Amino acid sequence: MRSAVKIPLVVTEQQAAILDGQSKIANWLYNKLLEIANGLRRQYRGSQDKEVGRTLYTERGLRDLIPDLKEHHPFLKTVYSSPLKNVALRLSLAIRSYQDGKHGKRKKPVNWPRFRAWKRSWFSLQYDEAWKGYDLAGHTLTLSLGKDAAGKQLKLSVALSEALPAWVNREHIRQCRIVKEGHLYCVVFTVERKLPGGKPLQRVVALDPNHKNFAYAVGTDGKATEIQNPYFLKSLDKRIARLKSKRDRCKKKAKKITRQDGSTFWLPSRRWLYLNARLQDVYRKRRDQTKVYLYTVANRLYHDYDAVGIGDYVPHGGGITKKMRRSMNNQSLNRRFKHVLSWVALRSGKAYLEWEEGGSTRTCHDCTYTVIEGIPPEVRAWDCPNCSRSHIRDENAARNGLTRTLKALGVPCSGRREVSSRRVWRFNGLGLTSGVR
Ligand SMILES: [Zn+2]
Repeated sequence: MRSAVKIPLVVTEQQAAILDGQSKIANWLYNKLLEIANGLRRQYRGSQDKEVGRTLYTERGLRDLIPDLKEHHPFLKTVYSSPLKNVALRLSLAIRSYQDGKHGKRKKPVNWPRFRAWKRSWFSLQYDEAWKGYDLAGHTLTLSLGKDAAGKQLKLSVALSEALPAWVNREHIRQCRIVKEGHLYCVVFTVERKLPGGKPLQRVVALDPNHKNFAYAVGTDGKATEIQNPYFLKSLDKRIARLKSKRDRCKKKAKKITRQDGSTFWLPSRRWLYLNARLQDVYRKRRDQTKVYLYTVANRLYHDYDAVGIGDYVPHGGGITKKMRRSMNNQSLNRRFKHVLSWVALRSGKAYLEWEEGGSTRTCHDCTYTVIEGIPPEVRAWDCPNCSRSHIRDENAARNGLTRTLKALGVPCSGRREVSSRRVWRFNGLGLTSGVR
């Protein structure tokens, strides 16, 4: 099984500047190669020259241009060979994806690659061979950079903020990538290992997020779990709504102030400022409590299972009524939950994916009959018109989700997924309590 481990780095200002410099050069190379590729593309359209086509459209065509570029732009030599090589491979892959899309080999067509702005996204540094160009001793990661003008190998040592997780051995590590997220530099190790017993991904669970509860889960262990919404959301949202309307009523009392230079601004009343501060407090509380909730659920899921698949559907639309607004709250909760899940998966060396939700509710899991007109949201249980089996709405969807998750994971799947027991998870502020449905 292939997974990844992400660990934040502790870098000094000087080390950050070096990493930024390497990333900038990689970004420059990407844009340079794209400029060349754009030229080749025009040329190829005119001439259909095979040599041009080979450079432009094969996996390693652009990579072969690097040695020549290094001669003309010696600063490229200050970056280690594999990150440079990976810049070219990345661009070639993007071009090939574009080609595949054009020829209908992909579900969705993709655009021809575009120039990248380094300021907008930090170009990651990829060392794609096991222990080539990087080494780890305790908490110290040493990266090989390029060579200086005298041909001397440059290196950079940075500290990991924490040790590798216990399940990762040195021989499991295949690749190493340096990324920057916000202000944080991280190393991502790609890890490949066999799970005990040689059977990968034995315990898999699929989640169907919906409006009625937070999510409904069905696992290969036959357990169906209704994961309830956090209890505190409703009351906090009510408080937020109340404070907001009170605060906004004070808007009228704002005073228009004219500065000495003649420009004007609105000075809110003291009551507005007071209510706004209270409101921000409640928002903060909501954020903090939600975070605890999401991590608690994610940790529990990855404690019980090796892989989690979650439905990809995100309902959208304007919120006019209270009920709609509430379900929209659920939406952003959902997005955050996906983030948290993928992060916990990364940290624990387990798998995360999203399964395509289209039609999962209206399709009978047992006989695959599809109710064409769909099943209205208020119908919580239904009988299949074809095979007459009874379904709990969300459970049927989650069972379909489990089949799709297993398929996406490439796990051999034996048709129907039975549910042998049902339970409810409730969050009590500290942990999850499990109850009977
Ligand atoms: Zn049926």
